[in-house]
Amino acid sequence: MSGRIDDKYKDRIVQMLKCDADAVHFYYSVADDVFFQLSGNLFPEISGDPLDYLAESGLIEEQSKPVFAVFCSKIQDGIINGTDKNSAGTDISIKLPEYSDYKMCHLYALFLRDENGRITDIHYNIRPYSPIEEFNRTVLKSFSSDKNPKLFAERCARVIKDNPNDNIAFIQFDVERFKLINETYGVETGDDLLQFFNDSLALVCTEEQPFCRLTADVYMIVTTFDTKDGLVNFIRKIESMLCGYHGMEYRLVFGVSIVDDRTCHTRRHGDNASLARQLIKGNALQNIGFYSSNMKTELQKKQSIEDDMHKALLNNEFVMFLQPKHSIKTGRIIGAEALARWNHPTKGMVSPGDFIPVFEQNGFIIKLDEFIWEQACRQIRDWIDAGIEPVPISVNISREYIHTIDVTSTLLKLVEKYDIPISLLELEITESFDSNGVEEIVKRMKKAGFKMLMDDFGSGYSSLNMLKSTPFDVLKIDKSFLDEFMESSRGRKIIEHTISMSQDIGLDIIAEGVETLEQAKFLSECGCDAAQGFYYSKPIPAPDFNKRLIEINGK
Ligand code: C2E
Ligand code: CA
Ligand code: CA
Repeated sequence: MSGRIDDKYKDRIVQMLKCDADAVHFYYSVADDVFFQLSGNLFPEISGDPLDYLAESGLIEEQSKPVFAVFCSKIQDGIINGTDKNSAGTDISIKLPEYSDYKMCHLYALFLRDENGRITDIHYNIRPYSPIEEFNRTVLKSFSSDKNPKLFAERCARVIKDNPNDNIAFIQFDVERFKLINETYGVETGDDLLQFFNDSLALVCTEEQPFCRLTADVYMIVTTFDTKDGLVNFIRKIESMLCGYHGMEYRLVFGVSIVDDRTCHTRRHGDNASLARQLIKGNALQNIGFYSSNMKTELQKKQSIEDDMHKALLNNEFVMFLQPKHSIKTGRIIGAEALARWNHPTKGMVSPGDFIPVFEQNGFIIKLDEFIWEQACRQIRDWIDAGIEPVPISVNISREYIHTIDVTSTLLKLVEKYDIPISLLELEITESFDSNGVEEIVKRMKKAGFKMLMDDFGSGYSSLNMLKSTPFDVLKIDKSFLDEFMESSRGRKIIEHTISMSQDIGLDIIAEGVETLEQAKFLSECGCDAAQGFYYSKPIPAPDFNKRLIEINGK
């Protein structure tokens, strides 16, 4: 292999060697995979890529390693995919031969590219900061736009003005549960992580892509883009560069506002990106949210729910409704499901669809669920005390928090407190794609004596898989399954066989969302006798349910 330094470059290198004699200069010919050390004696005899050597040599201080890794991957990306930059630079702490300890240096790379923009040659230099430079650098940094929102806003406005024909996006991101990082690893590590974000963004973003740390762990980037896919790729690139600092686990959440009105203040675009970020928070499946105009009302709704919820619990605004479960053959009531309602002082009766998702995100669902469980136990006690033949009540358990509290012992305490037969309290858990750990918990609850119902069976996820591994007692066939499959003869066959198969493996069946006599008859013919749905009754307040119970079942 014969090495060469590109002729186009030689004059420039000689010039740089002269005027920057303190620096360590080296040159890497990517095409030939050959390395030349031009000054200093940082490298022993090595061939190939000098960055590989540096990465493994121990010459780079531990703290600087993640930033160095981002620098290397940026260069690698430029070699493979081309780049629109002529140079890249970063600050790293490195042990130069003439010093006994690590020293803050500027690592700088100048690129030579082929006609496709791919890097063919790189001239690197590493220059230690003098004490005065070191001082200036820290002082100057606080005036740079990455830490100065005012300067940043000016740069954003310039991007909008200078690119009248390009799409422009404001991207805001933060670390999900950043507080947890500070608590787990210490505030210093949290600060180091944010410094790493700043350093990495300085590498990834071009002059035309200003970025800024706005507050604590919230960052904003402004960029032009061609297509939405291209924009998402850019965000994914940032994500991959910023994640995995020293092997730590954390998740970034992005909100994006695409500039439609170029005349409004940059702050508006920033606020919109912020809104999109806040609304996507807590979403397990997505971490990029795009702003849309209805988000403001959505967030206001969410915030008003969060403002009111604690007071609501104290003021007894949450109430338990009961929806009867019937035997199709006899018409008798064979049980009930407890469903939460919010009797809001100004909004009236609010349905769970409006507040349960918010509570599931912010954890308040634990409190609400415990409240409803207690109401259900108290109701059973009241029936027994009133000499009414009790029917089992099933309560819902949110699977999001099934791991965070000891559900089994909480429920056992309630059964003990109200002194009710455990067989009268049944538990509904939804099937889901993520059955992680649920199997164990279901087994434990079953062992404690509770009857376990698999809610929403057939509503989408791997129902059959769950059946195989998790020991439920009862399947609740979802309304959507019933509606969809009853439409065709093929579908009806599937329902019929699902019912007989479940019974074969020892599971009871109940159908929910039964709205017509036709549906009830069909279910009965298939061998399913238990049904819940509007055909029989909507969920109703407990006193109404009690009347109905006595009317139908007798006392
Ligand atoms: P779910 O557990 O699947 O509850 C059944 C839902 O179907 C109830 O809606 C019920 O009113 C509705 N429904 C019953 N029969 C029919 C019918 O024939 N037609 C139609 N169209 N709908 C019917 P609801 O009460 O609005 O509750 C919605 C969801 O909110 C529940 O779905 C459950 O996932 C959740 N939820 C309600 N209360 C609680 C609670 O106390 N804790 C928890 N964790 N979740 C709850
Ligand atoms: Ca349910
Ligand atoms: Ca259900």
